[in-house]
Amino acid sequence: MPKSVRFTWACSIKVKLLLWLLFILSITFAATGLFLYYELKKIVIGSIDSHLHSETQFLASLLEVERDELEWELKEASVGEYSIPFSGHYYQIVLGEGEVLVKSPSLADRSLPFSIESPLDIPHYENASGPRGEPLRLMNLPLQLPTGKVTIQAAEGLKDSYDLINSFRNTILMVFPGVFILSVVGGLLITGLSLRPIEVFSRRVGTITERNLNERVDTEGVDKELRQLATSFNRTLERLEDSFLRQRQFFSNASHELRTPVSVIKSQCEVTLKKERSFTEYQEVLKTIHEMVTRMSGLIERILEVSRLDMPGGVLRQENLNLMGILEDVYKLIAPLAEGHQIGISLKGEKGAVILGDRERLIELFTNIVDNAIKYNQPGGRVEMGLETLKGEVVVIIMDTGIGIPKNEVDRIFDRFYRIDTSRGRVAGSGLGLSIVRAIAEAHQGRIEVKSEVGKGSIFKVYLPVYCS
Ligand code: ADP
Repeated sequence: MPKSVRFTWACSIKVKLLLWLLFILSITFAATGLFLYYELKKIVIGSIDSHLHSETQFLASLLEVERDELEWELKEASVGEYSIPFSGHYYQIVLGEGEVLVKSPSLADRSLPFSIESPLDIPHYENASGPRGEPLRLMNLPLQLPTGKVTIQAAEGLKDSYDLINSFRNTILMVFPGVFILSVVGGLLITGLSLRPIEVFSRRVGTITERNLNERVDTEGVDKELRQLATSFNRTLERLEDSFLRQRQFFSNASHELRTPVSVIKSQCEVTLKKERSFTEYQEVLKTIHEMVTRMSGLIERILEVSRLDMPGGVLRQENLNLMGILEDVYKLIAPLAEGHQIGISLKGEKGAVILGDRERLIELFTNIVDNAIKYNQPGGRVEMGLETLKGEVVVIIMDTGIGIPKNEVDRIFDRFYRIDTSRGRVAGSGLGLSIVRAIAEAHQGRIEVKSEVGKGSIFKVYLPVYCS
């Protein structure tokens, strides 16, 4: 099953941005509208209150003059708005329990609402109904005079102020939706413009298939954020292209390697079948065919092994393994071959190292290296196997006194189907052995180092993470 990437964005980015924009704009506009509305109301009422306050202070100062002078002073004060009946500007002075001492002519035969319960010396503001039922802002200032309790009242109609506040509210209600719509349209345009490069990018990406993997997305003149994406995508393409090429190369090499024995078998059969042959001749042909089939089956085994190791997740078992035990098994397996080639082989090293891995694969890894150390050696030569424990890892060292590897070839010997020079070895190989070795080491989070000198020999070091030692 291919790993699937989970996208948390169920709907398009555009729709999400639009919804966020709508949400933020609604909250901003509603909050700003309400704030401005209540601030204006506070300022307007505050200014009325301060006017009423100075009015009551003036009236309070009049109470200090003599009674006959008071009437004269009040007449003086009752000019302008206070003299026009029901003008919306009123005052009155109430004695003790509610007897009106004086009032502004604007009140005519009416009076301001009076409550006896107001606490002394504390100005008290309230909204009340005026002489004609109109809304009023009313200030009460109860005072204790030597002659008794007196309440000074001043009032101002709220109609004009309410009209102003309401017209401001209506303006907000008219203007804000327009600004809101403009902001949304602007937001959509900006979102569209910002996302256009992504659309262009995704169209471009959509045109890249396995047939034109060599093409790249243009990163020139692209916005910074998108450039990062394009660069990462190009890098992924590079890796994909590389992997595709290696895959193709692998198939072509594999077919090529298989073609030789198949051609040999075919031509041998064709030539042999042309006429009657002796038993010995048939035996010779069958021997050649058997040799070719053995070579083919070995090659097919290796090809299968390579593709198994290539599979994502690998097919590795994970068990605790005594590494020395594995090397001893490899030694037992390979000793007869070494003897056959007149090559001395030895094994030494610490016994305690335990690693986590796949026993069969590790045997294959070390067998391949030791097999090469024998194959590319000369009679009378030596192969030494050793094991050392380092900090956090173990290293298996396989040293031979063979023909060595030229410096410029060392990096390439791990490539699939790569053989340095077939004439160097006495035994034919496939060029797959070391690629399998590297794949197995990497699957165990390990690495391989090679040092070699032509004519003197090679040292292969396989580093593996140690589980415990
Ligand atoms: P092959 O099947 O040809 O042995 P490998 O992948 O095992 O393929 O090795 C790749 C090449 O590396 C070989 O062709 C050989 O020339 C070279 N090589 C590997 N090991 C040694 C060694 N110990 N000494 C010299 N050459 C070696």
